[in-house]
Amino acid sequence: MNKQELQAAVDKRRTFAIISHPDAGKTTITEQLLLFGGVIREAGTVKAKKSGHFAKSDWMAIEQQRGISVTSSVMQFDYQGKRINILDTPGHEDFSEDTYRTLMAVDAAVMVIDSAKGIEAQTKKLFKVVKQRGIPIFTFMNKLDRDGREPLDLIAELEELLGIEGYAMNWPMGMGKGLLGLYDRRAKQVELYRENEAGERFLPLDADGKLDPSEPISQESIYRDTLDDIALLNDAGNQFDLKKVMQGDQTPVFFGSALTNFGVETFLKNFVAMAPAPSEHVLEDGRKLSPVDPNFSGFVFKIQANMNPNHRDRIAFVRIGAGEFERGMDVTLTRTGKVMRLNNSTEFMANSRETVESAVAGDIVGLYDTGNFQIGDSIFAGKEPVEYAKLPQFTPELFMRVTAKNVMKQKSFHKGMQQLVQEGAIQLYRTYSTDDYILGAVGQLQFEVFKFRMQNEYNSEVVMTPIGSRIARWIDETQLDEKMSSSRNLLVKDLAGAPLFLFENQYAMRWFQDKYPDVRLTAKL
Ligand code: GDP
Repeated sequence: MNKQELQAAVDKRRTFAIISHPDAGKTTITEQLLLFGGVIREAGTVKAKKSGHFAKSDWMAIEQQRGISVTSSVMQFDYQGKRINILDTPGHEDFSEDTYRTLMAVDAAVMVIDSAKGIEAQTKKLFKVVKQRGIPIFTFMNKLDRDGREPLDLIAELEELLGIEGYAMNWPMGMGKGLLGLYDRRAKQVELYRENEAGERFLPLDADGKLDPSEPISQESIYRDTLDDIALLNDAGNQFDLKKVMQGDQTPVFFGSALTNFGVETFLKNFVAMAPAPSEHVLEDGRKLSPVDPNFSGFVFKIQANMNPNHRDRIAFVRIGAGEFERGMDVTLTRTGKVMRLNNSTEFMANSRETVESAVAGDIVGLYDTGNFQIGDSIFAGKEPVEYAKLPQFTPELFMRVTAKNVMKQKSFHKGMQQLVQEGAIQLYRTYSTDDYILGAVGQLQFEVFKFRMQNEYNSEVVMTPIGSRIARWIDETQLDEKMSSSRNLLVKDLAGAPLFLFENQYAMRWFQDKYPDVRLTAKL
């Protein structure tokens, strides 16, 4: 590709993830998006994957059980001249540090909210991570075909709970059984939930934002309530501000119903038009790297181990930050200086795994890995080393004590532990007093994968004793007094030797803060 071609290819990319609480409708909306992209032909395909009916032979054992697939980790399709990459962010028990790290590899996020429930716990956590990156966040208020909360409340909640301004791009005209349609403030039209008698789906609004008075729905009280809401939004609501949207300070809000495929295409069209193409990446030394830099480079944001003992390889997911990837190219691993040839790569689609021929900044490539990569690694082609900014650390919430089952096998236990921790699969801590091993994770699946891989890759059977959920807070070493440790706040150190307390609960943490008001407790992201 020459420079212009690369620029054009990069400008086409739209790479995003969907953040939501389980059951808000992420799978359903993803499926609709794939339908619009022509990747799947019938609804239910992604669902079937989720429930495991689509299992392919080479899926990992745990993945199979849970129905997560390598191939659905990244879904790519073309829509209106743009190439869309959706990165999956697993929820439920599959929630792990990978879920967070995936958010480091996208250029925008879509937040799906159940309009009957509003903002829920997992959405809040994921939002925090996205917000910290300062990337645009688009909101889809789902399940309009059911009675939900007042739309004005939902908008207000964005500001109250998440601290982000909401700007309603469209507005529901009724909901549940009384759903008439969407009042589109920007396109100046009404999108009907059901076609009207003439078979029309869209009705134009006049300069005052009103429907033709001869249109039957213009007589309905729901329509008049909508006009009242719109007047209120226009007078007292937030002003649309694209700059704020791009910085993640304002979120455009779309209403709809993923299940009945209502409002999804309107959302997709607007999203594709507004969401940013890949832009500069900040490097570890503070420099900024343009996505159209002619030299390929990227970073590893996720490593997925193959749980099938016959396939020991793993897949390292690389977000391309700059340039063009070509099969068979030589790259250097920045951390070690090692040069390697990238022969084995996969491209991700919703229902097939195809070998990548070429991909550009914004795309994700999966590299078969035999143990070279760690999470956060940078790779580059060309002469000048490229090191992407370090990925942030996330505060683990679940903890386990871990030991080797067979004391005669300490060696393989330590080796496996060291390698898996280095790879970034799980966090390791040691207790101050007894040097016990404590594992920390953000989701239960991380422990299961750890246990499985220790057994299968290192032939080390481990015994894990749950400590349960704890609140981890780091403290400055100079402020540490071992007397501060008690049964309710386990004192441990992280890999770098930094001390932290694992508090039993909020009360234990508050008690500690009252007792030691001068000690500063800090969380990671
Ligand atoms: P996920 O856990 O966020 O991926 O949620 P799913 O897409 O699996 O949806 C959870 C449940 O909500 C399923 O039973 C869906 O059929 C249902 N659902 C999703 N979208 C809608 C919607 O727009 N309206 C209604 N009534 N149900 C929906």
